[in-house]
Amino acid sequence: VLSPCLGAPCLRCRGLCTGFEPHSWRKICKSCKCSQEEHGLSSELDEDRKVGGLLSGSRYAALTARPKGGDGARIYKRNRMIVTNPNISGKDPTFDTITYEWAPPGLTQKLAMQYMELVPPELQPVAGTEGAFHRRRRLARQLPLHDQDPAQCRGLSEGEQPLMEEFVRKYKAEALGVGEVALPGQGGGGGKEEEKRQDKSTEPSRICALSPSCSQGILRACCSCSVTL
Ligand SMILES: [Zn+2]
Ligand SMILES: [Zn+2]
Repeated sequence: VLSPCLGAPCLRCRGLCTGFEPHSWRKICKSCKCSQEEHGLSSELDEDRKVGGLLSGSRYAALTARPKGGDGARIYKRNRMIVTNPNISGKDPTFDTITYEWAPPGLTQKLAMQYMELVPPELQPVAGTEGAFHRRRRLARQLPLHDQDPAQCRGLSEGEQPLMEEFVRKYKAEALGVGEVALPGQGGGGGKEEEKRQDKSTEPSRICALSPSCSQGILRACCSCSVTL
């Protein structure tokens, strides 16, 4: 895999790393043993391309768009959320603006904010904070390019290429899911109402994320271990 940070010094070790040198199979630097994400991240556009590539060709393609004048690749329509709160502490009221680099798509701002409040403050993807970096580091780690694009793999034999393409096609059709944020007893996109009513025992009392592939229909809101797309 060609790394975007080849040769970049480690941000954690500072002077000790001689520059990112990918380990042959582990996701670490041969020079300093830290992970690749510690050596820098690809651009936000590259990330949106990567997520766009993951979702394109799946039933979530509506979350992507093909920009005019682009190379034809689909790009994730990441939902940025800008929240403005009046600041009335001073003499003249001003407005505090907070930009979330990502927020669950298709929600009212009120519901999206309820979701954000459940995310530990240090992990909230507020632009320019450690939380936003944390989200991007997790994306880099959990969604390596070579998991979806055979062209990014090193040493695939000719016979393995179509197998990999078939594997990608299959996981997009069968395994890929985008969680949905909803209040208890709502959401789920209809059709599953019956199932949910029978499932009172596991119904959370607060806002939750619904997993489309989970038979129970409910995924406990765990905001610290899952990548938020
Ligand atoms: Zn290093
Ligand atoms: Zn390091």
